[in-house]
Amino acid sequence: MTRDPKPTPKTVQLGRTTAGVEDREPAPRRRQRYVCPHEHEFAVPLSADAAVPDTWECPHHSTRARAAEVDNPTPARRKRPRTHWDMLLERRSIPDLERLLNERLALLKARRQPPPNT
Ligand SMILES: [Zn+2]
Repeated sequence: MTRDPKPTPKTVQLGRTTAGVEDREPAPRRRQRYVCPHEHEFAVPLSADAAVPDTWECPHHSTRARAAEVDNPTPARRKRPRTHWDMLLERRSIPDLERLLNERLALLKARRQPPPNT
């Protein structure tokens, strides 16, 4: 139970599971993933304030690895949004749609002037 008597202004208490190993303030960190050209992936711990560099040198291959997107780590956004086509298919079957299409095409053809055939 060692309470720091002089709180630094940047202190952010994030939970005490791993904190307290060192007496430093737990700077908020995030891990940015990088993918190197050798299809090898590694993570670089960055401070949450720092801008994420687009590239990082791979520690194994000394190549330039590109930052992977981890802006939103929630996988809930994977779901494909429903398109108009999806909604249409929920109401009509394909044969249904074909019949409708043929009806409409026939109407359009009937309305249109016949092309000058020779
Ligand atoms: Zn690599």
